[in-house]
Amino acid sequence: MLVIGGGPIGSAVARDIAKSGYKVIVLEEDIEIGKPVNCAGIVSPKLIPLTNVSEEIILSKLNRAYIYTKSGKKILIGDSKIRAVAIDRERFDKLLADQAMNSGVKYIMNAKAIGIDDRVKYTSNVLKNKINKNYTFKNNITKSDIVKNLINEDNITIKFLRNNREEKIKSKLLIGADGVNSDVAKWFDLEKPKEIINALTFDINLDIFDENSVNIIASRSYSPGLFAWIIPINNKRVRFGMGISSNSNRSLKYYFNKLRNIDLKPFSYMFNNFNKNNNDNKISVGKIPLGLIKKTYSNRVMIVGDAACQVKPLTGGGLYYGLISAKRCAQIAVEALNKQDFSESLLSKYQRFWMKDIGKEIEQGLGLRNIFLNLSDDDIDELLDTFGQEEFIKIINRYGDIDFPCRIALKIITKKPQILIYIKKYIIDSKLKSK
Ligand SMILES: Cc1cc2nc3c(=O)[nH]c(=O)nc-3n(C[C@H](O)[C@H](O)[C@H](O)COP(=O)(O)OP(=O)(O)OC[C@H]3O[C@@H](n4cnc5c(N)ncnc54)[C@H](O)[C@@H]3O)c2cc1C
Repeated sequence: MLVIGGGPIGSAVARDIAKSGYKVIVLEEDIEIGKPVNCAGIVSPKLIPLTNVSEEIILSKLNRAYIYTKSGKKILIGDSKIRAVAIDRERFDKLLADQAMNSGVKYIMNAKAIGIDDRVKYTSNVLKNKINKNYTFKNNITKSDIVKNLINEDNITIKFLRNNREEKIKSKLLIGADGVNSDVAKWFDLEKPKEIINALTFDINLDIFDENSVNIIASRSYSPGLFAWIIPINNKRVRFGMGISSNSNRSLKYYFNKLRNIDLKPFSYMFNNFNKNNNDNKISVGKIPLGLIKKTYSNRVMIVGDAACQVKPLTGGGLYYGLISAKRCAQIAVEALNKQDFSESLLSKYQRFWMKDIGKEIEQGLGLRNIFLNLSDDDIDELLDTFGQEEFIKIINRYGDIDFPCRIALKIITKKPQILIYIKKYIIDSKLKSK
């Protein structure tokens, strides 16, 4: 069977299916696994046992976060417990691919999947261009009807380009782990992300003020739709990153240039260093998908990871959710292969399982995100004043889990129900503004 995409999620799925004795091929368009890196690499320590990779990928251990607002207000959350680690993302991807190869997975590198079964493509083009001359469709047949018919074939044919030559491969089951711009999702008419975050990141040498703390600025004027961060990766180097919603009025470049002139430590301190040495060429840019995809399967097909939007809506982190879902995807793929049943009805189990694991958190995260998107910088200041109070910080520190941030919101509401009266206006505002 075939996996498109040799990122961490594709490798994890491929590894687990191969472990059950099935032949698995991964098609990867890049020439090297793990490159280019487009990730801040902040994950919870749970990622290490989940993937069984060695702790050598950990660059730094993080137990505190300073959260700033535009006006310079700040709160400190965290204590002595390690809440997150910064990992070497390139090494992580390579280790997962090694695990997959050791389980028997074959990688075809420098191979870009470009399409499926000619018949499906031909039919969809005919439908699109309305050049229905030589081909008669029975009663309003649609592309999805043709896709549904794939179940009556023995397999799907996938076309790919290697060294500028077109090649074909047949697979009983196709897994799309091909990231945010998933071609597999497009070919099978699966839902697109609701929103995209445009993000950038770079590493820079810097004397560190605090080796275990992350610095975050949440401001509509500087990074609308997400936030900006500085993460220590060792005692002489930091990783900067920022994200904005693609629905923002201005470009990522505009907000980045604005932020590099900010007068707020530690951001100004880092940017002084960055600007002095003209480091623009070190920046890497990427996209993060957000939303809750209701159908991540079709006959003979499943999508997983960023391709399926399995990402935390409040932070844009996709590694943990993608890897949890990779386990579910592999589990159902093995069941389908054992039973030789690749129908939508069997593969729909995958959706049910991953939704049970993370669906509620994504749904609630999207709800909270909607409130966040409508906050002005003054609102953020006000909220920081409230949640910066000792009683809230204690709850956050006790129950905080970067993989399930919405659970803290529920804990706060349970322990301090009076907060609902205070946040009611933000909920009403967000509902009115999104109408
Ligand atoms: C700036 C930035 C910072 C981030 N920071 C964090 C963070 O701190 N923590 C976190 O958890 N997440 C973070 N993320 C998100 C994280 O990087 C993704 O969730 C993760 O990479 C998803 O893995 P994936 O395997 O699904 O997709 P990808 O890593 O995108 O892998 C997809 C692979 O498919 C290949 N591919 C695509 N199309 C084809 C094709 N047609 N044929 C063959 N191959 C194809 C690609 O080359 C790629 O190798 C960040 C993202 C960005 C952009």
